[in-house]
Amino acid sequence: MSATTDTDRPRMSCLDELPRELFIGGKWSPANDGRLLTSVCPSTGETLATVAHAHATDVARAVAAARAAGQPGSRWHRMSPAARARLLHRVGDLILAHADRLALLDCLDNGKPLRVARAGDVPAAAAVFHYMAGWPGRLNGENASLYTASPERHVALTMPEPVGVVAAIIPWNFPLYMAAAKVAPALAAGCTVVLKPAEQTPLSALLLGQLVREAGVPAGVLNVVTGDGDTGAALAAQPGVDKVTFTGSTEVGRSIVQAAAADFRRVTLELGGKSPSIVFADVDLARAMDGAAHAIFYNQGETCVAGSRLYVQRPVFDEVVAGIRERAAAIRLGDGLDQDTDMGPLISAEHRARVLSYLRSARDGGARVTGGQAPDSPGFFCTPAVVTGADPQAPVAREEVFGPVLVAQAFDTVEEAVALANGSPYGLAAGVFTRDLGLAHQVGRRLRAGTVWVNSWHVLDPALPFGGMRESGWGREMGRAGVDAFLETKTLINDLGTRPWGAVPAPR
Ligand code: NAP
Ligand code: MG
Repeated sequence: MSATTDTDRPRMSCLDELPRELFIGGKWSPANDGRLLTSVCPSTGETLATVAHAHATDVARAVAAARAAGQPGSRWHRMSPAARARLLHRVGDLILAHADRLALLDCLDNGKPLRVARAGDVPAAAAVFHYMAGWPGRLNGENASLYTASPERHVALTMPEPVGVVAAIIPWNFPLYMAAAKVAPALAAGCTVVLKPAEQTPLSALLLGQLVREAGVPAGVLNVVTGDGDTGAALAAQPGVDKVTFTGSTEVGRSIVQAAAADFRRVTLELGGKSPSIVFADVDLARAMDGAAHAIFYNQGETCVAGSRLYVQRPVFDEVVAGIRERAAAIRLGDGLDQDTDMGPLISAEHRARVLSYLRSARDGGARVTGGQAPDSPGFFCTPAVVTGADPQAPVAREEVFGPVLVAQAFDTVEEAVALANGSPYGLAAGVFTRDLGLAHQVGRRLRAGTVWVNSWHVLDPALPFGGMRESGWGREMGRAGVDAFLETKTLINDLGTRPWGAVPAPR
């Protein structure tokens, strides 16, 4: 465990002059009932900041502002694709210009190591804006031909239109990146947005609101309402919302679908996972150990795609597990501000208690658990854990723990590995570690997962569609699919009133 030094304290100045109110219609305003939300630093357990806590009436104000900003005749609605693209580029540039401050905010608010936020989350958020800036000028419809009628008779075309007002609800594990992943494609498609960050990590979303305004995006096109689960529920159910794009737990995703069913508003869901990594015996062992450890322990294991189930072919099982245990023990836990920190704390005391309870019940069930200790120090730390010998039906082996907990099991045949990997209601990501690329492709095709990594993990890119099968969600983000998710297709058919050549009207 490493502690923050005095030299780190001045960095708290990233909080100075940070907006703490609701960003609605291009202006900052307190919650209607004056309520506040407290953000805590998970590395210390201390209060970082208080921000406005949006009430349902504030959510209604924000949705009204978003509707007005996207109305026909509004500046946003009339804007050329070129101008929209320039704005998106400018937001990406501003994120990079404020990278140090944004990284600090996410480090303090979430607990993640500063160097991870600075090298990963922030450039990734900027890249989403820069990539999405390429789409406004390329969202062409088609000049369509009718199948059942003469082309002389009709002209038909399809045209993409923005779906309208988007409610974007995000979790706390990658605060800035998640906000970018929702906002950039929605704006590229010409939508307007009300963004609801997680109650634990509201700060970088507020700064993003300020930067979007500074870039020149018209007032009301992006609105940010900080609040809790009730705020999110109010937003998901608010009349005037055309689409909900949600990243979070499968349980809350289900309630969002129920709310959306009332008026059939569009829904995209990026939900939980219990992603399997499969290690074949022919593998480069060191590479597989590094890869499988990175798959589960990156970002404290608080990633939806965490490789939390490990299946290793029996001849190398003991060696691979021992190598991962060594790597886990070498991970340096500490305050996110410390440059030597590899792994920060978990997001909250409650979340850590939940993670530890999975490990306790695994031990009670006879499994061998290494790591998984809560150090006796401030902050919500939990050392990385490796579990072997667990009952495959035990909660730790089946449910999403969302922490640094790896459950390992041996397999013998390819068939068995595929069956084990697919034996989960989730289907977000999977990984195959082998030198045999033919085998990797065969197995990759058979895995029920939205993303399959070969000899790698956590490689995400704005150009590559990302999302889950089964209980991991609906739809895809990123790439063309990610922009299409914010578009409706209109078909326009014009009857030219002509007759086919040669069809001369009979004389009367
Ligand atoms: P969560 O509890 O589902 O919360 C996600 C967001 O929804 C938060 O902003 C939350 O607000 C809000 N919310 C809570 N209750 C709501 C309701 N009834 N209606 C509408 N919104 C509501 O998830 P979390 O604990 O923050 O994040 C962890 C989960 O996210 C894990 O399951 C993880 O797998 C998933 N995740 C998925 C992906 C992916 O791309 N597939 C990526 C990252 C995380 P409050 O925080 O204020 O309660
Ligand atoms: Mg916080």
